[in-house]
Amino acid sequence: MNAPVLAPQTPLREIIPAERAALFERELGLRSAYDLLTYFPYRYEDLTAPTPSNLLGGALEGEENAAGTVISVKHQFLPGRARAKTTALLRDDAGIFTAVWFGRPYLRNQLREGMRLFVRGRVQRSFSGPQINVSLHRVTREGEAYDGEVLPVYGQTARLQLKTIRTVIRKVLPRLLEIPLDELPEDLQRKHALLPAREAYRAIHQPARMSEALAARKRVIYGEFLGLALGAAIKRAQRAFTGGALPMSAPDDLMDELERHLPFALTGAQRRVIRQIWGDMALPQAMNRLLQGDVGSGKTLVAAAAVLLAHRAGAQAALMAPTEILARQHAAKLATLLLPFGIPVEVVLGGQGAKARREALGHLADGSASLAIGTHALLEDDVVFARLGLAIIDEQHKFGVQQRMRLRVKGYGGNLPHTLVMTATPIPRTLAQSLYADLDLSVIDELPPGRTPVRTRATTEDHKPDVWAFVRKQVERGRQAYVVTPSIGLDNGKKNGEEEESKAAIVRATEVYDELTRRVFPDLRVGLLHGKMPAREKDEAMAAFARNEVSVLVATTVVEVGVDVANASVMVILDAQRYGLAQLHQLRGRVGRGAAASFCILVAPDDTESERLQVLERTADGFAIAEEDLRLRGTGDLRGTAQSGAANFKLANLVADFHLYAEAKADADAVVAADPRLERPEHDGLRRLLAAGETLQALVVSS
Ligand code: ADP
Ligand code: MG
Repeated sequence: MNAPVLAPQTPLREIIPAERAALFERELGLRSAYDLLTYFPYRYEDLTAPTPSNLLGGALEGEENAAGTVISVKHQFLPGRARAKTTALLRDDAGIFTAVWFGRPYLRNQLREGMRLFVRGRVQRSFSGPQINVSLHRVTREGEAYDGEVLPVYGQTARLQLKTIRTVIRKVLPRLLEIPLDELPEDLQRKHALLPAREAYRAIHQPARMSEALAARKRVIYGEFLGLALGAAIKRAQRAFTGGALPMSAPDDLMDELERHLPFALTGAQRRVIRQIWGDMALPQAMNRLLQGDVGSGKTLVAAAAVLLAHRAGAQAALMAPTEILARQHAAKLATLLLPFGIPVEVVLGGQGAKARREALGHLADGSASLAIGTHALLEDDVVFARLGLAIIDEQHKFGVQQRMRLRVKGYGGNLPHTLVMTATPIPRTLAQSLYADLDLSVIDELPPGRTPVRTRATTEDHKPDVWAFVRKQVERGRQAYVVTPSIGLDNGKKNGEEEESKAAIVRATEVYDELTRRVFPDLRVGLLHGKMPAREKDEAMAAFARNEVSVLVATTVVEVGVDVANASVMVILDAQRYGLAQLHQLRGRVGRGAAASFCILVAPDDTESERLQVLERTADGFAIAEEDLRLRGTGDLRGTAQSGAANFKLANLVADFHLYAEAKADADAVVAADPRLERPEHDGLRRLLAAGETLQALVVSS
């Protein structure tokens, strides 16, 4: 069988008229044959199986189908609402029913007595029998044997409507199916009772029955999962071959020595994680580890332990943070922790003076400084290390894979630096393993002792006076409060890992600041902090708050990452409905750092989201919250945060389809164990699966 072949990258304009192709590209971002083939319907209209008229209205919710012959038609105009109304009486074998259309004047020329109609819509029952409020109808021609169909529903735009998309795809589908597809090995196909690839890609666009559409979706979703899992398995296998890092082995008493110089005992989780990291660093192949720990779990100290070992092994370390505020705070904390060990620290920031920068770079280049702390400014070409052996990246999600890799190439003597990525974004373990496929995972699952959970309450804007009264009471007791205004939902771009905030976000923060200073707390010291302020002003605002010269700090989410003010006891989050639960949890982590009682108040305009927000009233476990967030919002949220290039699915949902992911992962591990580079001919289709996803891109970057 010699099917003609169409290259997946064939431009759309070679398949459909150029003008159309331009429209598809502009409106939907579709450029190639493959793009169009994988522009999947997000749901279907099921026009099969009409309900007999005497049973219509039996459905508890949703739309029903009916079919019948038109007995009479009436057209009216409803002047008050300026709408056309069309009413048809229909008969089927079981009786009579009414179909009603609104706002479709053209029906005047379409509907005739004696015609056979297929209608779909919501049903109301009345004394005169069932009445269908028609959302969709299909006229059948005389003698046409029509027993319904399943119509694909594609995402449409104002300029490119569903009807056009449907027509175009229906027309070119046979050509699109000439693209070489991700055919699965027979055994996998049989094991999961999956449709063959060509059959699945056809049926997902043109199913004869809903059951066929579902089977097609299952096949495509399995393929997406298998692609992700294969990419991950291959990366792991490759990593085992690539050596090239300086082994640094920790002397037996290093843990004791570390602990002797701390004001407190390490938690069990910290000790376990430090051992994992030191264990990795002892090997001649580069560590590539993700350290997850809830806000306040003590990740800084774990970073310090890694730096200590690098220093003892005669290597340098670099720590990269997403913002200047955070970089400075790391520098202050780490300098203190590392002081007893005589480890010299330098800071490299974008907004730094020329002289300070020159000096810092000099000390890194000649090896006299052992640790560089900075922002993405560390990635610039003039930052050269004498012996970089360890790269630590804080708050992973603000940086992309590429940036991670640029720090890695700064290793020396053909060595890669050991890499530790730290994040406070709690991601369920199973999910983390697939999103960060190329990283080993360490989790700090225990908070230092003596913390009291933050008491959390979700409320609505009409209770704001009570909220401010509460804040005032805390301030009178000598405590401080954050008032956070949203930058998310308003901001889209994050450039170079620096916070980018939209104008709208800053306007909002300034409004709240004005309201509080003028009207609510004219007698208190109120501060303002947002992302567009110059670095020095930001630092000054933060420092004034840290010194308790400011009692109430209005801030955009720049405070999200890491800033530590132990005396702050209240976190008020305005427009809380805009945030994911995990992000709210992180913000909440800014208070409750001491033993005293702390409070978090989530304020939303109304109570439509109160059920979701109440999850935070009940639990303080970041991982449980992340699971709940996933359940409620799907992975959409995490995609932005996890840029490992992995989870860019068209159909699959890691939460809803998790069982299938687990199976695909097991299959992928088995395939890669037997054929690590997918070189066997029966794995041709699997190679395509890899190429289809961004997994391939991630592979290229990291190898
Ligand atoms: P995060 O994981 O959010 O970066 P930090 O490293 O900033 O957390 O630690 C939070 C706070 O907990 C800091 O004030 C730190 O000094 C303190 N801390 C860290 N480890 C311990 C410990 N083992 N016992 C007591 N306090 C600790
Ligand atoms: Mg931190």
